[in-house]
Amino acid sequence: MRKIGSVPVLVLLAACATPPEPTTGLDRMYVINCGENHAKDVSRWTPGVNVGKPHVFSNHCYLLKHAKGWMLWDTGNPDRIAALPGGLTNPAGTITAFMKKTLVDSLKEIGVTPADIKHLALSHGHGDHSGNVNLFTAATLYVQRPEYAAMFGPDPQKYGFIPANFEKIRGNTAMIIDGDYDVFGDGTVTIKAAPGHTPGHQVLVVRLPKAGPVILSGDMVHLQYSWNYRVVPSFNFDVPQSMATIDAMKAYARETGAQLWVNHDMEQNAKIPKAPAFVQ
Ligand SMILES: [Zn+2]
Repeated sequence: MRKIGSVPVLVLLAACATPPEPTTGLDRMYVINCGENHAKDVSRWTPGVNVGKPHVFSNHCYLLKHAKGWMLWDTGNPDRIAALPGGLTNPAGTITAFMKKTLVDSLKEIGVTPADIKHLALSHGHGDHSGNVNLFTAATLYVQRPEYAAMFGPDPQKYGFIPANFEKIRGNTAMIIDGDYDVFGDGTVTIKAAPGHTPGHQVLVVRLPKAGPVILSGDMVHLQYSWNYRVVPSFNFDVPQSMATIDAMKAYARETGAQLWVNHDMEQNAKIPKAPAFVQ
Protein backbone atom coordinates (compact mmCIF):
# COMPACT_ATOMS: atom_id res chain seq x y z
CA MET A 1 0.00 0.00 0.00
CA ARG A 2 2.83 2.35 0.88
CA LYS A 3 4.46 1.74 -2.49
CA ILE A 4 1.31 2.63 -4.42
CA GLY A 5 0.85 5.67 -2.25
CA SER A 6 4.34 6.95 -3.00
CA VAL A 7 3.84 7.19 -6.77
CA PRO A 8 1.84 10.42 -6.87
CA VAL A 9 4.37 12.02 -4.47
CA LEU A 10 7.21 11.25 -6.88
CA VAL A 11 5.23 12.66 -9.80
CA LEU A 12 4.56 15.80 -7.81
CA LEU A 13 8.24 16.19 -6.96
CA ALA A 14 9.20 15.78 -10.62
CA ALA A 15 6.70 18.46 -11.59
CA CYS A 16 8.16 20.82 -8.99
CA ALA A 17 11.73 20.41 -10.25
CA THR A 18 11.11 22.88 -13.11
CA PRO A 19 9.62 26.13 -11.86
CA PRO A 20 6.51 27.21 -13.76
CA GLU A 21 6.72 30.14 -16.18
CA PRO A 22 6.12 33.08 -13.85
CA THR A 23 3.59 35.14 -15.75
CA THR A 24 0.74 35.31 -13.29
CA GLY A 25 0.31 38.70 -11.63
CA LEU A 26 1.99 41.04 -14.10
CA ASP A 27 -0.32 42.40 -16.77
CA ARG A 28 1.58 45.14 -18.61
CA MET A 29 4.36 47.72 -18.58
CA TYR A 30 4.16 51.35 -19.65
CA VAL A 31 7.41 52.95 -20.83
CA ILE A 32 7.05 56.66 -20.05
CA ASN A 33 9.15 59.44 -21.57
CA CYS A 34 10.67 61.11 -18.50
CA GLY A 35 12.85 63.76 -20.11
CA GLU A 36 15.95 64.19 -22.23
CA ASN A 37 19.52 64.99 -21.24
CA HIS A 38 21.66 66.86 -23.76
CA ALA A 39 25.36 66.30 -23.22
CA LYS A 40 28.05 68.59 -24.64
CA ASP A 41 30.61 65.80 -24.93
CA VAL A 42 29.45 62.17 -24.99
CA SER A 43 32.95 60.88 -24.25
CA ARG A 44 32.32 61.51 -20.52
CA TRP A 45 30.24 58.30 -20.84
CA THR A 46 32.40 56.61 -23.51
CA PRO A 47 35.98 57.42 -22.44
CA GLY A 48 38.26 57.99 -25.44
CA VAL A 49 35.45 57.53 -28.01
CA ASN A 50 33.52 60.31 -29.80
CA VAL A 51 35.52 62.97 -27.96
CA GLY A 52 33.89 66.40 -28.17
CA LYS A 53 30.69 65.13 -29.80
CA PRO A 54 27.34 66.26 -28.39
CA HIS A 55 24.74 63.61 -27.64
CA VAL A 56 21.10 63.38 -26.60
CA PHE A 57 20.28 60.77 -23.97
CA SER A 58 16.70 59.62 -23.56
CA ASN A 59 15.28 59.16 -20.05
CA HIS A 60 12.43 56.89 -19.04
CA CYS A 61 10.20 55.82 -16.17
CA TYR A 62 8.61 52.37 -16.18
CA LEU A 63 5.14 51.72 -14.77
CA LEU A 64 4.10 48.14 -14.05
CA LYS A 65 0.51 46.99 -13.64
CA HIS A 66 0.55 44.03 -11.25
CA ALA A 67 -2.37 42.36 -9.48
CA LYS A 68 -0.80 43.46 -6.18
CA GLY A 69 -0.71 47.14 -7.18
CA TRP A 70 1.07 49.66 -9.39
CA MET A 71 4.85 49.71 -9.31
CA LEU A 72 7.05 52.54 -10.62
CA TRP A 73 10.68 52.00 -11.58
CA ASP A 74 12.65 55.28 -11.72
CA THR A 75 11.02 58.73 -11.68
CA GLY A 76 12.92 60.71 -14.33
CA ASN A 77 13.97 64.34 -14.49
CA PRO A 78 12.15 66.66 -12.06
CA ASP A 79 8.71 67.79 -13.31
CA ARG A 80 9.55 71.41 -12.47
CA ILE A 81 12.00 71.44 -15.43
CA ALA A 82 8.95 71.30 -17.75
CA ALA A 83 8.42 75.01 -16.94
CA LEU A 84 11.91 75.91 -18.20
CA PRO A 85 11.94 76.19 -22.02
CA GLY A 86 15.76 76.20 -22.11
CA GLY A 87 15.99 73.25 -19.73
CA LEU A 88 18.23 73.13 -16.67
CA THR A 89 22.01 73.02 -17.07
CA ASN A 90 24.20 71.55 -14.33
CA PRO A 91 26.77 73.81 -12.61
CA ALA A 92 29.65 72.18 -14.55
CA GLY A 93 27.88 73.01 -17.83
CA THR A 94 28.28 69.46 -19.15
CA ILE A 95 24.62 68.52 -19.46
CA THR A 96 21.20 70.17 -19.87
CA ALA A 97 18.07 68.40 -18.66
CA PHE A 98 14.69 68.81 -20.36
CA MET A 99 11.22 67.61 -19.43
CA LYS A 100 8.70 68.01 -22.25
CA LYS A 101 5.78 66.52 -20.32
CA THR A 102 5.57 66.05 -16.55
CA LEU A 103 5.46 62.57 -15.05
CA VAL A 104 2.23 63.57 -13.26
CA ASP A 105 0.61 64.34 -16.64
CA SER A 106 1.91 61.11 -18.18
CA LEU A 107 0.48 59.10 -15.27
CA LYS A 108 -2.82 60.98 -15.53
CA GLU A 109 -3.10 59.96 -19.18
CA ILE A 110 -2.91 56.32 -18.03
CA GLY A 111 -5.49 57.00 -15.29
CA VAL A 112 -3.00 56.77 -12.41
CA THR A 113 -2.29 59.32 -9.66
CA PRO A 114 0.92 59.42 -7.57
CA ALA A 115 -1.07 58.12 -4.57
CA ASP A 116 -1.94 54.97 -6.57
CA ILE A 117 1.72 53.89 -6.70
CA LYS A 118 2.16 51.23 -4.01
CA HIS A 119 5.60 49.92 -4.96
CA LEU A 120 8.53 52.17 -5.85
CA ALA A 121 12.13 51.47 -6.77
CA LEU A 122 14.91 53.56 -8.25
CA SER A 123 17.81 52.08 -10.16
CA HIS A 124 19.89 54.54 -8.09
CA GLY A 125 19.70 57.95 -6.43
CA HIS A 126 21.03 60.27 -9.17
CA GLY A 127 18.91 63.29 -10.12
CA ASP A 128 17.67 62.02 -13.50
CA HIS A 129 16.18 58.95 -11.74
CA SER A 130 15.06 60.44 -8.43
CA GLY A 131 13.69 63.71 -9.90
CA ASN A 132 10.07 63.08 -8.90
CA VAL A 133 10.43 60.55 -6.14
CA ASN A 134 9.04 63.02 -3.55
CA LEU A 135 5.58 62.58 -5.17
CA PHE A 136 5.34 58.97 -4.02
CA THR A 137 5.09 59.19 -0.26
CA ALA A 138 2.45 56.41 -0.12
CA ALA A 139 4.69 53.78 -1.74
CA THR A 140 6.94 51.11 -0.27
CA LEU A 141 10.51 51.83 -1.35
CA TYR A 142 12.67 48.88 -2.47
CA VAL A 143 16.34 49.80 -2.19
CA GLN A 144 19.73 48.11 -1.80
CA ARG A 145 21.31 48.57 1.60
CA PRO A 146 24.40 50.51 0.36
CA GLU A 147 22.23 52.87 -1.74
CA TYR A 148 19.94 53.58 1.21
CA ALA A 149 22.98 54.37 3.36
CA ALA A 150 24.39 56.69 0.66
CA MET A 151 21.08 58.49 0.02
CA PHE A 152 20.00 58.99 3.61
CA GLY A 153 23.41 59.02 5.30
CA PRO A 154 25.51 62.03 6.32
CA ASP A 155 27.04 62.88 2.92
CA PRO A 156 24.73 62.17 -0.08
CA GLN A 157 26.60 64.77 -2.20
CA LYS A 158 29.69 62.57 -2.10
CA TYR A 159 27.83 60.15 -4.40
CA GLY A 160 26.50 62.87 -6.72
CA PHE A 161 23.07 62.85 -5.08
CA ILE A 162 20.82 65.89 -4.50
CA PRO A 163 19.20 65.12 -1.12
CA ALA A 164 16.30 67.58 -1.67
CA ASN A 165 15.15 65.24 -4.48
CA PHE A 166 14.22 62.50 -2.03
CA GLU A 167 13.79 64.19 1.36
CA LYS A 168 10.00 63.55 1.40
CA ILE A 169 10.33 59.76 1.10
CA ARG A 170 12.67 59.46 4.08
CA GLY A 171 9.67 58.24 6.13
CA ASN A 172 8.33 55.78 3.52
CA THR A 173 8.14 52.12 4.38
CA ALA A 174 11.41 50.79 3.02
CA MET A 175 12.33 47.26 2.00
CA ILE A 176 16.10 47.20 2.42
CA ILE A 177 17.56 44.61 0.05
CA ASP A 178 20.85 42.70 0.06
CA GLY A 179 21.15 41.31 -3.46
CA ASP A 180 18.12 40.00 -5.35
CA TYR A 181 14.46 40.41 -4.39
CA ASP A 182 11.28 38.96 -5.90
CA VAL A 183 8.96 41.95 -5.39
CA PHE A 184 5.58 40.20 -5.70
CA GLY A 185 6.65 36.66 -4.80
CA ASP A 186 5.54 35.29 -8.20
CA GLY A 187 8.78 35.73 -10.16
CA THR A 188 7.37 38.39 -12.50
CA VAL A 189 9.31 41.37 -11.11
CA THR A 190 12.78 40.85 -9.65
CA ILE A 191 15.22 43.46 -8.41
CA LYS A 192 18.87 42.49 -8.89
CA ALA A 193 21.87 44.16 -7.30
CA ALA A 194 24.05 45.73 -10.03
CA PRO A 195 26.55 47.89 -8.13
CA GLY A 196 29.29 50.08 -9.55
CA HIS A 197 27.66 53.18 -11.04
CA THR A 198 26.66 53.95 -7.44
CA PRO A 199 27.27 51.79 -4.32
CA GLY A 200 23.82 50.16 -4.37
CA HIS A 201 22.78 50.49 -8.01
CA GLN A 202 20.18 47.88 -9.06
CA VAL A 203 18.42 46.67 -12.20
CA LEU A 204 14.89 45.34 -12.65
CA VAL A 205 14.02 42.07 -14.38
CA VAL A 206 10.45 42.14 -15.69
CA ARG A 207 8.78 38.97 -16.97
CA LEU A 208 5.92 40.11 -19.18
CA PRO A 209 3.28 37.64 -20.39
CA LYS A 210 4.21 38.01 -24.09
CA ALA A 211 7.50 39.93 -24.42
CA GLY A 212 9.45 37.52 -22.19
CA PRO A 213 12.15 38.61 -19.74
CA VAL A 214 13.43 42.17 -20.01
CA ILE A 215 16.20 43.73 -17.91
CA LEU A 216 15.71 47.45 -17.25
CA SER A 217 19.26 48.80 -17.17
CA GLY A 218 19.13 51.87 -14.95
CA ASP A 219 22.64 53.29 -15.46
CA MET A 220 24.47 49.94 -15.37
CA VAL A 221 25.22 51.05 -18.94
CA HIS A 222 24.18 54.30 -20.61
CA LEU A 223 24.12 53.10 -24.23
CA GLN A 224 23.74 49.85 -26.14
CA TYR A 225 27.32 50.53 -27.28
CA SER A 226 28.48 50.51 -23.64
CA TRP A 227 26.84 47.11 -23.10
CA ASN A 228 28.31 45.64 -26.29
CA TYR A 229 31.85 46.90 -25.60
CA ARG A 230 31.89 46.99 -21.74
CA VAL A 231 32.32 50.76 -21.51
CA VAL A 232 31.51 52.75 -18.37
CA PRO A 233 32.18 56.37 -17.36
CA SER A 234 35.30 57.06 -15.31
CA PHE A 235 33.09 58.99 -12.86
CA ASN A 236 31.31 55.78 -11.77
CA PHE A 237 31.57 55.12 -8.04
CA ASP A 238 33.59 51.93 -8.66
CA VAL A 239 34.74 51.15 -12.23
CA PRO A 240 36.04 47.56 -11.68
CA GLN A 241 32.82 46.73 -9.81
CA SER A 242 30.83 48.21 -12.74
CA MET A 243 32.68 45.86 -15.13
CA ALA A 244 32.03 42.86 -12.88
CA THR A 245 28.34 43.78 -12.82
CA ILE A 246 28.18 43.96 -16.64
CA ASP A 247 29.84 40.53 -16.88
CA ALA A 248 27.45 39.02 -14.33
CA MET A 249 24.40 40.50 -16.07
CA LYS A 250 25.61 39.32 -19.47
CA ALA A 251 25.84 35.79 -18.07
CA TYR A 252 22.34 36.18 -16.59
CA ALA A 253 20.97 37.44 -19.93
CA ARG A 254 22.52 34.46 -21.75
CA GLU A 255 21.06 32.00 -19.21
CA THR A 256 17.55 33.45 -19.24
CA GLY A 257 17.30 34.81 -22.79
CA ALA A 258 16.48 38.24 -21.33
CA GLN A 259 16.71 41.39 -23.44
CA LEU A 260 18.38 44.50 -22.04
CA TRP A 261 16.44 47.75 -22.37
CA VAL A 262 18.86 50.65 -21.95
CA ASN A 263 17.08 53.61 -20.31
CA HIS A 264 19.26 56.35 -21.81
CA ASP A 265 19.76 54.93 -25.32
CA MET A 266 17.57 57.10 -27.55
CA GLU A 267 18.08 54.94 -30.64
CA GLN A 268 17.14 51.66 -28.95
CA ASN A 269 14.11 53.27 -27.29
CA ALA A 270 12.77 54.57 -30.60
CA LYS A 271 11.64 50.97 -31.27
CA ILE A 272 9.77 50.55 -27.96
CA PRO A 273 6.09 51.64 -27.67
CA LYS A 274 5.64 54.59 -25.29
CA ALA A 275 2.83 55.39 -22.86
CA PRO A 276 -0.13 55.60 -23.08
CA ALA A 277 0.57 52.53 -25.24
CA PHE A 278 2.00 49.60 -23.28
CA VAL A 279 4.03 46.42 -23.59
CA GLN A 280 2.72 42.97 -22.60
ZN1 LIG B 1 20.93 58.24 -15.49
